[in-house]
Amino acid sequence: MWVHMFGYFSASGMNEPDIKCERLAPSEYQKRFSDIKPAFNQNQALVESSRCLYCEAAPCVQACPTHINVPSFIHRINTNNIDGAAKTILEANIFGGSCARVCPTEILCEKACVRNFEPECQPIQIGRLQRYAIDNFSQEQYPFQRATPSGKKVAVVGAGPAGISCAHGLACMGHDVIIIDAGTKPGGLNEYGIAAYKLVDDYAQEEIEKITEIGGIEWKLNTHLGLDIQLDTLREQYDAVFLAIGLSDKRTLSLSGEESAGVKHAVDDIAELRRTENLSQISVGKRVVVIGGGNTAIDIACQIKRLGAETVVMVYRRSVECMSATWKEQKFALLNGVEIRTNCQPVAIQHDSGKVTGLLLDQTVGNSDSAERISIDADIIYRAIGQTMCCEHLALDKEIPEIQNGRITVDEQRRTTVKGVWAGGDCVDFGENLTVQAVQHGKEAAASIDRYLKTGG
Ligand SMILES: Cc1cc2nc3c(=O)[nH]c(=O)nc-3n(C[C@H](O)[C@H](O)[C@H](O)COP(=O)(O)OP(=O)(O)OC[C@H]3O[C@@H](n4cnc5c(N)ncnc54)[C@H](O)[C@@H]3O)c2cc1C
Ligand code: SF4
Repeated sequence: MWVHMFGYFSASGMNEPDIKCERLAPSEYQKRFSDIKPAFNQNQALVESSRCLYCEAAPCVQACPTHINVPSFIHRINTNNIDGAAKTILEANIFGGSCARVCPTEILCEKACVRNFEPECQPIQIGRLQRYAIDNFSQEQYPFQRATPSGKKVAVVGAGPAGISCAHGLACMGHDVIIIDAGTKPGGLNEYGIAAYKLVDDYAQEEIEKITEIGGIEWKLNTHLGLDIQLDTLREQYDAVFLAIGLSDKRTLSLSGEESAGVKHAVDDIAELRRTENLSQISVGKRVVVIGGGNTAIDIACQIKRLGAETVVMVYRRSVECMSATWKEQKFALLNGVEIRTNCQPVAIQHDSGKVTGLLLDQTVGNSDSAERISIDADIIYRAIGQTMCCEHLALDKEIPEIQNGRITVDEQRRTTVKGVWAGGDCVDFGENLTVQAVQHGKEAAASIDRYLKTGG
């Protein structure tokens, strides 16, 4: 069974449980949800940038999915050319500000840094330097100008990082773009998915405003592909279409008791946390169990613990090495007081009078195949076991792009199997679903669409 995200269909269909943990003082919420990676000041940026060896064959550039010229922007920071540094970053990655805050650099650019090895064993803090450049450059030096209008029109479906990155690229090249999104606000998971303390204040929206200032971009929000508009119609009305619809369906576990009040999808409450003006109004369990081993599981576990839950236990069915959450995220969860239990296979949800009371699990002992049946008390259980693409969006169209294993098939230029239709971001990606990856897909699709519009090929 699949349930649609963000409530364009019903949210989870479950009654809200009335459990609330003890409320915190207002200043405590502010403290617990402030920026977890505070910005560098000028001295810190100068000291950190002076550690860069400006490697000729810089491995960090290859390790960044958008291939930002890292040594170049770091050198510019070090010579106090902040506008130049920001230009280098933004030309490769229009979401350079968000990515500086949300990229898991420990598995990307910073993992590749040669400073990881002797004698320092500390990579350059590339993400924080990137943020320093983007936060401090002169806004009038924003390095983009729209080319002469081409007279061509492109429809982009999905206003997440992939869609907006593609729209910006196309607008720069002089094409007119309409961005269609089912939500009330643009940003996709950058707005509604990222943990609240990674992107504070209204950064995600401010960044989008800046990106779309270029002109030539029209918005059509509250418009759902598959319900309000069809791909066939877009293909008739526009010269090209880019699908960047993300993964809007949520997996369920098919366990007995799963319909009980108190069983929730992590992404719903994460979105709620990003939407709310008042964190004290969010319903928080006392004893919380999170099922899953990825980013989303870590994010809900840490945020709920910070909101005051007494115990938060993350359970994952395989070993710690198989968790898709990075080592840094796992460490962050432990530092937040989250308990992580691995090799735990959920068996059933325990409940009483329709409300969750616990989770029954089989825990594998050591390397053996034998399992011990255990139970963990819980008043809230979060499913954080991944999302998938909603294939119904395209069900009524005459010509449908090929979909394999729940993802749209694309070639290296992000072209789908249907002429004039491209796709990118999470809806095509089987790898790590990351903001920076989605931005790169949007960029690649824009370049390919531009070639198609100019040459027909
Ligand atoms: C909880 C969570 C935490 C994450 N944390 C991180 C992190 O810390 N760092 C990181 O790099 N990545 C993180 N990610 C992943 C990252 O957010 C995504 O990889 C990225 O947002 C994907 O971008 P996208 O544009 O492909 O899709 P999305 O951001 O999902 O945007 C898709 C857009 O399409 C719209 N849409 C969907 N269906 C339709 C339709 N039928 N009609 C019209 N519009 C539609 C949606 O409303 C949405 O706005 C996280 C993801 C989650 C779920
Ligand atoms: S965009 Fe992300 S991966 Fe690329 S250099 Fe910046 S922080 Fe590193």
